[in-house]
Amino acid sequence: MTTLDIRSDVTVQLVDHNLSDKAVVRAARVSTVGQTHNNPTEDADRDAGLINYLMRERHGSPFEHGSLTLFVEAPIFVFREWQRHRIASYNEESARYRELRPVFYLPAADRNLVQVGKPGAYRLKPGTAEQLAFVDCELLNAYEAAYEAYERMLVAGIAREIARAALPVGIYSSMYVTMNPRGLMNFLSLRTHREDAAFVSNPQREIEMCAEKAEAIFAELMPVTHAAFEANGRVAP
Ligand SMILES: Cc1cc2nc3c(=O)[nH]c(=O)nc-3n(C[C@H](O)[C@H](O)[C@H](O)COP(=O)(O)OP(=O)(O)OC[C@H]3O[C@@H](n4cnc5c(N)ncnc54)[C@H](O)[C@@H]3O)c2cc1C
Repeated sequence: MTTLDIRSDVTVQLVDHNLSDKAVVRAARVSTVGQTHNNPTEDADRDAGLINYLMRERHGSPFEHGSLTLFVEAPIFVFREWQRHRIASYNEESARYRELRPVFYLPAADRNLVQVGKPGAYRLKPGTAEQLAFVDCELLNAYEAAYEAYERMLVAGIAREIARAALPVGIYSSMYVTMNPRGLMNFLSLRTHREDAAFVSNPQREIEMCAEKAEAIFAELMPVTHAAFEANGRVAP
C-alpha cells in the first residue's frame, strides 16, 4: 500500500518576472509626452501620484505591461477556481501523461469547518476538536481508498486517463501560471477577503492562501502599484 503524503499548505513560488512600477509609468506617459524609455524621469513622488491616479480612475491598460510566472502546488479544487481567471496563461501537470503522486489535502487545525447561513451569504466558524478529527478520518479513508483503486487499475494495465477518474479533488496538482499586473490584481481582489475592500469578496480559504502568497510577491516587485491598489479599495483597475 502506498503511503499518502498529506499537506495542509500550498506552494506559490516566483519563477520569473519583468514587473516594475516604472513600466506602468512609462506606458501611461506615452499618451502625454511620447517615449520615455530612453530618458526616464526620476521623480518618485510624481510617479506614485500618476500610478495612484491611474488606479483610482481605473485606467487599466498601463498595468498590463509585464508579467510574472508563478509555480503553484495546491489541491485540484483550488486549481479549478484559479483557472477560471482567463486573463492568465496556464500549464499544468497532466494526469494522462504521468502518474499522479499520492499527495492529498487535509485542513489545518485552525481552518474553519462549519458553515453558518445561506449559500452566497454565509460565514464559517471553527469546528470542534471532534469535528476536525472526523474530517481528517473521513478524508484519509476516502483518499486511501481512491488512491488504492487508482493503483490497482494502473497495475491492471488501464490507461492513466481512465484510472484518474477514481481520484478526488483533494489531490495536489502543480502548474505554472503567468499573469500581468492587471489580471493579478483582479485575481487578488476576488480571491482575498478584506473587510476594508470596496468590494468584500468571500473566497474559499484555500485559494485565498494562494492569493496571499501571490500578493506578497506582487507587493515586493511593484510596491507603488500595490500601495495604490490598497489605497483605492483593492479594486482592479
Ligand atoms: C467568491 C467567488 C465565488 C464564485 N462562485 C462561482 C460559482 O458558484 N460558479 C461559477 O461558475 N463561478 C464562480 N466564481 C468564479 C467567477 O464567476 C469568475 O469566473 C472568476 O472569479 C474569474 O473572474 P474574472 O472573470 O473577473 O477573471 P478573468 O477571467 O481573469 O477576467 C478578468 C476580467 O476580464 C474581463 N473579461 C474576461 N473574459 C471576458 C469575457 N468573456 N467577456 C467579457 N469580459 C471578460 C472581465 O472584466 C473580467 O473581470 C466565483 C468567484 C468568486 C471570487
